[in-house]
Amino acid sequence: MIKIALSKGRIFKETLPLLAAADIVPAEDPETSRKLILDTNHHDVKLVIIRATDVPTYVQFGAADLGVAGKDVLMEHGGEGIYEPVDLGIAKCRLMTAGLVNAKPVNGRKRIATKFVNVTRKYFESRGEQVEVIKLYGSMELGPIVGLADLIVDVVDTGNTLKANGLEPIDHIADISSRLIVNKAAMKMKHERIQSLIDKVREAVS
Ligand code: AMP
Repeated sequence: MIKIALSKGRIFKETLPLLAAADIVPAEDPETSRKLILDTNHHDVKLVIIRATDVPTYVQFGAADLGVAGKDVLMEHGGEGIYEPVDLGIAKCRLMTAGLVNAKPVNGRKRIATKFVNVTRKYFESRGEQVEVIKLYGSMELGPIVGLADLIVDVVDTGNTLKANGLEPIDHIADISSRLIVNKAAMKMKHERIQSLIDKVREAVS
């Protein structure tokens, strides 16, 4: 059995043609099905539909053999127990710091609102800056507007969401795209099957 962890929405839609190249076609559409495990055209390949931030955890512990996860989510997770063999080149964006347009300089420690607390701590540490990191689960843009934080760390695509809220991107932390990830033990135990899948996906990407 091969289990592939995927999240609904943009990543699922953009991953479908790559899975099709590896001859894997889901039997149902996760947007309309309430099932969390979807059958495919192969009796021994299942798709596990979970939240994007949970994909690395499922793959790390071998609950899924493979998965597709954004580099932002992988950086935040840390990547323990996971190989990252293919950059799928999909769901591209940038991880950035952002703040209010014409913000006043901050005296003392900056407060940074983000859902990427590990990445944010590392980033400011690497710059020798001591900051206070505030964990949020969404709508980070609101943080600086209501005075919760001086800056945010979030993924930015067009920048329209920042702009609509009076914010601007400041520093570029990392380029983001989705990656095919593999559980390290599964890569050994089911090598032939998984390597062939990786090769087909890699070919479809390039
Ligand atoms: P933007 O195009 O910059 O206005 O992006 C709108 C929102 O969509 C951002 O605040 C992000 O939370 C989200 N977003 C954009 N691109 C991605 C991506 N590739 N992966 C995950 N979230 C994204």
